[in-house]
Amino acid sequence: MINEVLYCERLMYLEWAQGEFVDNVYTVDGRVIHRRVDQKGSALPDPDADDASPFEAKSVWLSSEKLGITAKIDYVEGDGGSVTPVEYKRGRAPNLKQGAYLPERAQLCAQVLLLRAHGYPCEHGEIYFSASRTRVRIEIDPPLIDKTFWAVARARELAAAGVIPAPLRDSPKCVGCSLSSVCLPDEVQLLRGLDGLPFDDSGCDGSEEQLGFDFPDREGPLEADPWGLAGEPEPSRAPLRRLVPPKDERIPLYVRAQGARISLDGDRLRVSAAMHSGDARLPQTSHVVLYGNAQITSQALAALFDRDIPVFFFSMGGWFRGRTLGHGSKNIELRIQQHRAADDPVTSVRLARTFVAAKIRNQRTILRRNATHLGPTLLGELESLAKKGEHAVSVPELLGYEGTAARGYFGAFSKMLKGSAKEVGVFDMNGRNRRPPRDPINALLSFSYALLVKDCALALSSAGLDPLLGYLHRPRYGRPALALDLMEELRPLVADSTVLTALNNGEVRASDFGVTVAGAAMKAPGRKRFIATYERRMDQLVTHPLFGYRITYRRLLHVQARLLGRALTGEIPDYPAFRTR
Ligand code: SF4
Repeated sequence: MINEVLYCERLMYLEWAQGEFVDNVYTVDGRVIHRRVDQKGSALPDPDADDASPFEAKSVWLSSEKLGITAKIDYVEGDGGSVTPVEYKRGRAPNLKQGAYLPERAQLCAQVLLLRAHGYPCEHGEIYFSASRTRVRIEIDPPLIDKTFWAVARARELAAAGVIPAPLRDSPKCVGCSLSSVCLPDEVQLLRGLDGLPFDDSGCDGSEEQLGFDFPDREGPLEADPWGLAGEPEPSRAPLRRLVPPKDERIPLYVRAQGARISLDGDRLRVSAAMHSGDARLPQTSHVVLYGNAQITSQALAALFDRDIPVFFFSMGGWFRGRTLGHGSKNIELRIQQHRAADDPVTSVRLARTFVAAKIRNQRTILRRNATHLGPTLLGELESLAKKGEHAVSVPELLGYEGTAARGYFGAFSKMLKGSAKEVGVFDMNGRNRRPPRDPINALLSFSYALLVKDCALALSSAGLDPLLGYLHRPRYGRPALALDLMEELRPLVADSTVLTALNNGEVRASDFGVTVAGAAMKAPGRKRFIATYERRMDQLVTHPLFGYRITYRRLLHVQARLLGRALTGEIPDYPAFRTR
């Protein structure tokens, strides 16, 4: 916490007040380096014992009510006369007079103060930099002690205030920050700027003016980019940086075989089914999707919970039944804001307007791009309905515009089918029907929406939001209302577009369906091919119209869910729904 508050106050708040944590290459690397010392905690010898022989101890927990500090010290060594705490860090030792950057020195200083408070003679601390394999001595002088106490007090103050500090502006620190995809520093700045809102720049940047100290060693501002990742500073009107990773390297595991059993084998999930078996590595699994009667062992579930990997349950026919998740997000602040907003009709309608208007505009775009023999009337009508939706004063009014737009859009859907798909009469669609879908194309659309709502629920949960509490879709027992809300803007671009691709490329054919009086259902081989088409679409790169960078639809869902959270907490004025041109 001391380290983080001196590095970036927002980072401290996200990690410690909101419980956000995301791994990146540096945090994983850091964990590997700490393996040597992250062991069952060892005890320090009695400081007053007569026997003063040398000792070493690993993972030592110490706390002091008087100091108001608790710390886990990586390594402590005693030479018979005094003790020295050693902090393990990744990277190379920086070429600095003080031996390390302020956040790391202050962290070590707190450890020295704790050892002293417990009666151990302790003059200095050391930092072991693993990449350069060097131990650097850190002097604990009065200015460093002052800064350490200041950091403790500041962290308490920020946590008690309950207001997330502003992101750093154009800071190279953000480039290596593991929470950049949660924080969205440049996106938040841009969205506030677009709305003409002033930006609160009062966050601490580590400068002596802000810290309120007269540093005798003239240390100056906290060094930026301690990992040396940032390159040249950005020009003042530089394009927005893509700090969000473009792709998620992890992929979902779909289990469709009936009677399959999923068990744990080391860090792998083993899937055993009658016809075939396979496995998936846990670190490369984003989530697990089970269709129908598949069994999963409690050991496998426990391993998934530990890694916050959710399991989604679908009926055999593709109906989304629910999900299981470990503790999930710890960001209770955000949940409170989500509930407050749902209780406020003005906020609810404002959000609902955004979802519906974006959906209608994206339906229009899909038609404009793909439909043949489409007169200008429908496109004009859709634009007019989107505009009316933007000014609707109630959800029922909004649903009226949405319904009219849907009738026009689905009425023209078959005009987007090409070649053999168009000639196959079963794909001619006379409007949308469901529960159960009566024709193959509606079955395909329903299946596609179920996949997308699952991914929206996943993105919302990761962002700390409750997928069940929505604004356009009102809460109903078991209904993923917020996931349905978030899905609106992406239905045409992801789900409908996947259906069109699957049909126009012949990946799904008429023979893949069974149609009875009870409705239409896709057979297993067609479902397998359609899931592959959907996953390909999710991995497709798209340019974000506001931010200008390219990301996959899969990642986009997570960015949109985070932005919805930022809008709910009032950090940005409105939720910017995704609209393609
Ligand atoms: S991305 Fe930048 S502003 Fe956001 S928490 Fe990290 S360092 Fe702070």
